[in-house]
Amino acid sequence: MTDWLFAPPATPTIAIDGVDEAYPVRRIFCVGRNYVAHAIEMGVAVDREAPFYFTKSAHAICPSGTTVAYPPGTDNYHYEMELVVAVGAEVYQISPEQAPAAVYAYGCGLDMTRRDLQLAAREKQRPWDLGKDFEDSAVMAPFALAAQFGEPGPQRIQLKVNGEVRQDAHIADLIWSVPELVSHLSGYYHLGPGDLIMTGTPAGVGPLVPGDKVEGSIDRLAPVALTIGAAQ
Ligand code: MN
Repeated sequence: MTDWLFAPPATPTIAIDGVDEAYPVRRIFCVGRNYVAHAIEMGVAVDREAPFYFTKSAHAICPSGTTVAYPPGTDNYHYEMELVVAVGAEVYQISPEQAPAAVYAYGCGLDMTRRDLQLAAREKQRPWDLGKDFEDSAVMAPFALAAQFGEPGPQRIQLKVNGEVRQDAHIADLIWSVPELVSHLSGYYHLGPGDLIMTGTPAGVGPLVPGDKVEGSIDRLAPVALTIGAAQ
């Protein structure tokens, strides 16, 4: 057996309601501009040709209920409330009809974003990593089994900052539905247990400042909460 040079980092995990074992996370795929009103507020045309993605490291995961420091390198740190899909089966090149059987659980997540860095990168046609994939940028509540959540669609998705509603939509408003996303991604990756899909955010994204309390909710799921601390 080979000795490690240093202790391997612990695998990030998600708790699942009613399940004793934790769900170990492998990859996080994030869908861009998947609600019409959000695409409009971002100043871009709605693209119905195909979904597009960026990724976050599994090590960007931060549990709900945490206080995180205002991140470095930004003056425009945004919340994005999202439905998160946890894949539970190995699938490759499946149809949308086959996709629901591959979904193990759903959860509330926050795709935290350094918007100024994301937009600067977009402007220069560079990757978004500095804007999207940073420490504590994937905030996850405990998940619920797929059967408990039901078919994605009628559930309301909301986000409040300091008790005030900022985002309010329904999962049915997704441009690319959950089965379409799972099917499409499976055309490019061998998806499997441990893969998460953050499905995109509704309109109403906006900046946060230290002291803000964020709470996101989706019907039938545990809410996700985050408090913004001072910059360090
Ligand atoms: Mn997002």
